[in-house]
Amino acid sequence: LPDKPCRTRFAPSPTGYLHLGSLRTALFNFLLARATGGQFILRIEDTDQVSSHCVVLTGILVTAGPDKAGPYGPYRQSQRLSLYDQHIDTLLRDGKAYRCFCPPEDLEAHKREAHNLRLPTAYSGKCRSLSADESDERASKGEPYAVRFKSSTAPALVRDLVYGRFKKAVGEEDFIIRKRDGFPSYHLANVVDDKNMGITHVIRGAEWLTSTPKHVELYDAFGWDHPQFAHVGLLTDMQRQKLSKRHEGVDMSWYRDRLIVPAALLNFAVLLGWHKRGSKSEFMTLQDMADSFSLKFTKGDIIVSLDKLFHL
Ligand code: GLU
Repeated sequence: LPDKPCRTRFAPSPTGYLHLGSLRTALFNFLLARATGGQFILRIEDTDQVSSHCVVLTGILVTAGPDKAGPYGPYRQSQRLSLYDQHIDTLLRDGKAYRCFCPPEDLEAHKREAHNLRLPTAYSGKCRSLSADESDERASKGEPYAVRFKSSTAPALVRDLVYGRFKKAVGEEDFIIRKRDGFPSYHLANVVDDKNMGITHVIRGAEWLTSTPKHVELYDAFGWDHPQFAHVGLLTDMQRQKLSKRHEGVDMSWYRDRLIVPAALLNFAVLLGWHKRGSKSEFMTLQDMADSFSLKFTKGDIIVSLDKLFHL
């Protein structure tokens, strides 16, 4: 474990229900904060209203034992828009980002064409070469635009605590940091918030691994150090199909309806990709989990068997 207090976070995009995988990553982040005497922050990554998501999660963790590790928050990205704008403007001013006026239809057509030719579906880069004057003029006339980050052709190398060295894919495009509707993209807001909140470790599902080189490029562009990343394997069923809404036991309400107490659920969730050192799985309190916590996670898919829950 790191010898300094870690600051971690759980950053769900509210989708209406709390996924078992999200509960698991929230718990890992919480335990790392608790085990190192740090803090765990809850941040809702959406511009909509706070969903039931954070209420459920806070409920589960608080019932399990309120703690000085947190959760702190919830912070809502919808209330922090000016912070993102400020940072997008900095990148624009420094020539590290540019306005992209391409209408969505053109982007779609390009994507289809690239797909047919089996090329990477990268953005053509058309607006990268607009002169500053032309760009200013079109913007001042009210033409809608997105803002794209000038992604470097040099591969951003990421060292992941679970997956090791990881490079961005070839043909990665200049990605969007502000959408045409004026809202920041996930990548931008996520990076600005992690920096702003002093996050030291990001533990999240492996589906975010491919986004991480983009995030590292953004950290570099701002001249910031980035947090340490640990991506944990995806949850699947016995047939190795990724757990989705249609699976039993994915939505937290499934456990609630069966009157499964939070302590049992947390014991079940914590063993999805993490092992308690040196002991067979006995029932653990949150304190036991924190006492034996380490950053040793399973790489690759993790098969979820609900039978185990009923053996707890
Ligand atoms: N908002 C993303 C999600 O819904 C957050 C991913 C991350 O932890 O960076 O999972």
